[in-house]
Amino acid sequence: MKNNLHHSQYIGTKINLLNFNFIQMRNFFLSIGEKKFCADQMMHWIYHEYCDDFNKMTNISNILRKKLNNMCVIEAPKFIEEKRSVDGTIKWQVAVNNNLVETVYIPEKNRSTLCISSQIGCILECSFCATGQIGFKKNLNVSEIVGQIWNASKIINHNQFQKHRPITNIVLMGMGEPLLNLNNVVNSLKIILNDFGFNISKNKVTLSTSGIVPALDKLSNMIDVNLAVSLHAPNNIIRDKLMPINKKYNIQNLLHSINRYLNKSHANRGGVTIEYVMLNNINDEVVHAEELAMILKKIPSKINLIPWNCFPNSIYKSSDPIKIKKFAAILIKKGFFTVIRKNRGTDINAACGQLVGNIV
Ligand code: SF4
Repeated sequence: MKNNLHHSQYIGTKINLLNFNFIQMRNFFLSIGEKKFCADQMMHWIYHEYCDDFNKMTNISNILRKKLNNMCVIEAPKFIEEKRSVDGTIKWQVAVNNNLVETVYIPEKNRSTLCISSQIGCILECSFCATGQIGFKKNLNVSEIVGQIWNASKIINHNQFQKHRPITNIVLMGMGEPLLNLNNVVNSLKIILNDFGFNISKNKVTLSTSGIVPALDKLSNMIDVNLAVSLHAPNNIIRDKLMPINKKYNIQNLLHSINRYLNKSHANRGGVTIEYVMLNNINDEVVHAEELAMILKKIPSKINLIPWNCFPNSIYKSSDPIKIKKFAAILIKKGFFTVIRKNRGTDINAACGQLVGNIV
């Protein structure tokens, strides 16, 4: 088994069990001469009891506990700093090697969403995004992705002294482009969806992408979750300037790929979520709303208009709220389900596009 493991699945010389999805966990236990049901028990201890101490796993034999102590660990990246917003949003800085990523908990009336990161930094350099400005550092491995949920769940779901709404939804909208870390993201999603894992239903899990077309096509054969696409422009001229990836996979290619994904998906019954950041005098005019409605005519979609969050040295300004409302009204009149996203956690820099981490 050891030879089949990737070096990123180790901590020192020990195997980190937080890197295994359900099937991999079973294969691992078979490879060390144990029964499949021991893997099921282990998943339960990790993801339902939040236990990282083999000695506390009472239904596992002493001999196996000893073996596991010698070979394995259960280790999530550490949450080293917590900031709480007045609106209930919580942002954690997570230490990964010598870098930080960010995880954000967003409580709402009927649900609570955890926004997780998939990479440290991002290679795509979207000009309106704070993460894009820090460049790319590293892909997160599975334990570093699911470890964010594991740590946050321990704080939120299992702290009886704090009245937090348990995490009901997961969005991959934090730092990074998930489809550029496809295998680790898909294995993490398998753990999130699996009954023995976090057991969250596929229509409550959303992957947000800037539109890496070949990876999106691959994803449709690998896993079914909600899709959100960062479109942010109604035509290629504007999108080329905001998102350099558009020069490689333009809007038309992307929309075809979205349709292919939707045709295979059961999670996206209401259609894809289109993310559209509102930038003053760049993409927020009446003509842009009309153009957007036209290009989305054949795509079942919900449109999220996102008031832009300023960050230092940016060339952009956020659109006037009246202009955003007018933009939304045009889309609604044309039959699109459209919402203006509420900004959450702006006082702690936890809002969309504000996640930058810091080097420790
Ligand atoms: S918007 Fe998303 S894809 Fe673009 S630079 Fe930021 S994190 Fe990367």
